[in-house]
Amino acid sequence: MDRQPLPPDDARAWLDVDLDALRRNARRIAAHSGTRLTPVVKADAYGVGAPAVARALEGEAPWGFAVATVTEGVALRAAGVTRPILVCPPVLPAEFPAAAASKLTLALGQGGHVDQWKAAGGTAWHLSIDTGMSRAGVRWDEVDAMHAAALRWAPEGAFTHFMAAERGEASMTEQEERFRAALAQLPERPLLLHAENSAAAARRTSRYDFIRPGVFLYGVGSGPGAQLLPEPVVAVRARITDVRRVERGESVSYDAQWIAHGSRRIATVGLGYADGYLRALGNRAHMLLRGKRVNVVGVVTMDMTMIDVTDVPCEIGDTVTVMGADGDDVITAEELAALVPASPYELLTGLHLRLMRRYAGSGA
Ligand SMILES: *Cc1c(COP(=O)(O)O)cnc(C)c1O
Repeated sequence: MDRQPLPPDDARAWLDVDLDALRRNARRIAAHSGTRLTPVVKADAYGVGAPAVARALEGEAPWGFAVATVTEGVALRAAGVTRPILVCPPVLPAEFPAAAASKLTLALGQGGHVDQWKAAGGTAWHLSIDTGMSRAGVRWDEVDAMHAAALRWAPEGAFTHFMAAERGEASMTEQEERFRAALAQLPERPLLLHAENSAAAARRTSRYDFIRPGVFLYGVGSGPGAQLLPEPVVAVRARITDVRRVERGESVSYDAQWIAHGSRRIATVGLGYADGYLRALGNRAHMLLRGKRVNVVGVVTMDMTMIDVTDVPCEIGDTVTVMGADGDDVITAEELAALVPASPYELLTGLHLRLMRRYAGSGA
C-alpha cells in the first residue's frame, strides 16, 4: 500500500497518529459488540489517513471497509485493499462504471438502480433502508418496491443507520422495529445485516453480522452512557514560529479582539484555520506548552494562531500541542468542539487540510 511522505523534523505543524491505539480501539469495540468489524474510513479515515488506517486494521480481519464516495473506494483499492469496500451513501448511476471497475460494493435503495448497477458490471450490492434518518435508502415501509429487483438479483446485505444512538435506546428500538418489518418484505434474509455505528456498538452487544464504527476507532467517545471509551489516537502539534513582546493596550490579530492588560509575551504558532483549526477557537481555546495550558489570544488567522506564553519559557522552534496529550494534561477533540460549538466529528475531519501525518506504532 502507498505510504505518505513523512513530515520533516522541521515541519511547522503535523498530526501524530498512534496506530497501536487505533488497533486497541478496534479490538475493544469488536470484542464488546461480539462481532466483526467493518471500519468506516470515509473522509480519509476522519482525517487520520485511510491507507494507513486500512493497513493497520487489516490484521483485525474486518469483513471490509466502508467509505462515502466512489473516489474514496477507488483510492483504497489503489492503496492495496482487497477486502470488500462498501460505499454507504447513494451513488449516481454516472459513477457505476468507475465503481464496478474497482469492484466496490454499492448501497442501493432505488429499484431501477439495481439493474443499472448489474449492467455496469457491479458484482454485489447492499440494500440501504431508511428507518428514520430521512437521508438515504428506501423507506422501511416501501421496501416492497425493491422486491422484484431483489428477486432478480439478491442483495448480499441490508443495513440501516441510527439517527441518535448516543441518546440511548428509545429511537434505536423504534428504528430496529422498522428495520425488521422492512426485512420481512424481502424474498429472503440477506447474508449480511448491519446497523451499529460507534455509539450503538459502544452501548450493547451487536444484533447483526458486523458493526460499522468510525469515530470510536479514531479516539473520540460517543457521548455519555457509552460503556466503552476509546483511547486517544490523534494529536495535533505545531511549532512556535515567532515570539514577541506586546505592551499594555496593544492588540493581537485581526480586529483587535484581544488587548493586552499589561506587558505580555506572545508566541505565534504555525497553524491556522486553513489547517482546520477553526477560527471560532480564537480567544477561547488552550494549547499545551511544556505540559502547561496557555491561552489562544486573538482571532485565529488562516495560517497562524497566537498564544500568550508570558508564564512559560519558550523559543522559536518549540513544539506546542494543539490537541492531544502533553505531560499530565490533555486537550481532547470534544473539549475543542464544545468551545466552537461544533461536533467533535467536524473538528477531527477538518484537522488535516494541510497537515502531514506522523505515524507511530507497529506497521507505521
Ligand atoms: C459515518 C457512518 C458510520 C460511522 O459513524 P460513527 O458515528 O463515526 O461511528 C456508520 N454508518 C454510516 C452509514 C455512516 O454514514
